[in-house]
Amino acid sequence: MSDKARLERHGRIAVIFIENPPVNAMSVGVPGALIACLDQAQADDEIDAIVLTGGNKGLIGGADINMLGKPWPEGEPTLHMLIDALDACKKPVVAALQAHTLGGGYEIALGCHYRLIHPAGQVGLPEVNLGIPPGAGGTQRLPRLIGLEKAAEVIVGGKPAKAAKAFDMGMVDRIAAEGDLLEQAIAFAQDVAGKGAATPISARSVTLPSDGFFDDLRASWAKKAKGLRAPMACIDCLEASLLPFPEGYAESRRIFLDCAGSEEAAALRHMFFAERTAAKIDGIDNKQSTRPVSTVGVIGAGTMGSGIAIAMLDSGYSVILMERNKDALDAGCARIDKNYAGQVAKGRMTEDAKAKRIGALTAVTDIEAMADADLVVEAVFEDLGVKQAIFADLARVTKPGAILATNTSYIDVNKIAEAAGERVSDVLGMHFFSPANIMKLLEIVRADKAAPDALLTAMSVGRKMGKTAVVAGICDGFIGNRIYNVYRREAIFLLEEGASPSQVDKAMTDFGMALGPFAVMDLAGLDIAWAQRKATAHLRDPNKRYCTLPDRLCELGRFGQKTSRGFYIYEEGNRKPIPDPEVEALAAETAAEAGITRRTITDEEIVQRCLFALVNEACAILDEGIAQRESDIDVVFCNGYGFPRRRGGPMFWAGRVGFDKVLSQVKQYSQTHDFWDPSPALVRLANN
Ligand code: NAD
Repeated sequence: MSDKARLERHGRIAVIFIENPPVNAMSVGVPGALIACLDQAQADDEIDAIVLTGGNKGLIGGADINMLGKPWPEGEPTLHMLIDALDACKKPVVAALQAHTLGGGYEIALGCHYRLIHPAGQVGLPEVNLGIPPGAGGTQRLPRLIGLEKAAEVIVGGKPAKAAKAFDMGMVDRIAAEGDLLEQAIAFAQDVAGKGAATPISARSVTLPSDGFFDDLRASWAKKAKGLRAPMACIDCLEASLLPFPEGYAESRRIFLDCAGSEEAAALRHMFFAERTAAKIDGIDNKQSTRPVSTVGVIGAGTMGSGIAIAMLDSGYSVILMERNKDALDAGCARIDKNYAGQVAKGRMTEDAKAKRIGALTAVTDIEAMADADLVVEAVFEDLGVKQAIFADLARVTKPGAILATNTSYIDVNKIAEAAGERVSDVLGMHFFSPANIMKLLEIVRADKAAPDALLTAMSVGRKMGKTAVVAGICDGFIGNRIYNVYRREAIFLLEEGASPSQVDKAMTDFGMALGPFAVMDLAGLDIAWAQRKATAHLRDPNKRYCTLPDRLCELGRFGQKTSRGFYIYEEGNRKPIPDPEVEALAAETAAEAGITRRTITDEEIVQRCLFALVNEACAILDEGIAQRESDIDVVFCNGYGFPRRRGGPMFWAGRVGFDKVLSQVKQYSQTHDFWDPSPALVRLANN
């Protein structure tokens, strides 16, 4: 018998252990070993019931993700054969679910007759997040166990359920008490042992909740799916569960295999690994201990500060919010209160929960109050002098070891850190994105002198907040804004050359971007970038192309949505952008002044120009060490800039297009356009 499973007798109960360290992944050899144990237990007249357990690990740490997309060795028993064997077992099998039992692990548990979960355990079928429906019968068994409506929530939503919710939904039969899970699983098996031949879930039938159930389900997911195919494929599999089990199962396998080989699944697999890899900081032992953080100070209660305070409160931190005067503080607190009131009104939060969050917030106008903070996030005006004064104060008033973070978008974090004097190693950047309580992305900016444990602590705070944190080096705009600015610049040039804002936006949203670049600019406000351009005008190379159109819009007071006019017109109370001939006329005017003959531009050129420029700049920051790795850039763009996940981020996408093709086009543009010098990393990637 293989060493990947072991059978132990406990009276008349057989306990089968899965033993495949470190996470009990469903690797080659595991199903065969388990089937052998199962056969042994079935053949033994002294055994009445069986417990399947992963020991003190999860039952199965999911499918072996390294095997996805690879062929299973011929002749080797498979996960499906194991689940079939469980399904056909005449003696009742209790699955003891110790930790997180997701994907293939939960599909095995569904092959068992009963499920007992540890109180801290979780179960779920999150495969949709990898671009595939569950492939080992989960889509057929779960509706038979808990009904189609709840099964759709679990499978199409892809979110794991904690023990209590899993029990409420019927995904598990019992929640164990604290203490030894195995003992309780054996007791469970003894309870069910004498109750005759066990009936497998596959023998149950599925009821259609209502006539239009699947039409409604598809309609409700059509928008949420954002062009992803996997959620729809999950729905197709669920519909197949209405068929007799063998047919539904075969259909679900067909759909699964079709998705498993898709570009979407490859991209989502890439993102799965990319997001885990992003947590690693080069040159730092990630196992080092972090500093304790329970109270967070936030300085500035404007757009970002109030969003950061909400995000911190939502994550269980106590927050001390500081403003420069009472009026600004009241305005910030009102913003926070309004946000929570909105959530209560929508039924997403109880009054009690709101009161608890607000109760954890202390509002002050005196920086001395930061003495109690373990971490301070500064979010005041984007002005070096103002920020330096604050960091000098923070160095004086905060306790030793408190981490001092700035949310600056563009200012050199090293210069801010200098102001903290001896506390320089406690300073780093925590660059949140707006709205800070919603956006997943967080750039941790690695100041030159930042202490390794300070960086690790900031990463771990980000994780606790449910953010996807990426480490960035120091440059103008860090990873995201620096690259996005190049993409945006190309969009503006295209406008000057003959495209309209709506054509550019449509080409990019058709590609999959959540919003087009002009809609984004109008949403963020054109005045911020205008101020930035004015402040850095002296650094601009006068010999390089510069389009004055955005400046002219600002001179006309057109700051975007906030003034109802920007690249588009907005009607009162409506965010739908309406094309404006005045903008077209201005574009024609700036083009004439720059000696550009406007022409018809294809959507293909728009996508290529915008995205190849983006990729070339991404390569430049890899050369400069601003991003640690290619995949971090993908993580930044998919989590902070609306890049379609199904395309795996700009670097993954460029790899699929072919870096050689990107390079050759970049070289071609460089003949006639400014800013298109191929970056060395692009040349390197193209040559590989
Ligand atoms: P904001 O103008 O909305 O808010 C700034 C707040 O800081 C104001 O309420 C102001 O009263 C307060 N303030 C100024 N000086 C202060 C002081 N000395 N002490 C206490 N409070 C003080 O600006 P914002 O959009 O929230 O931006 C804040 C920071 O976050 C900036 O550095 C900005 O670059 C950065 N940021 C902004 C965004 C965004 O989308 N708005 C995104 C990421 C980062």
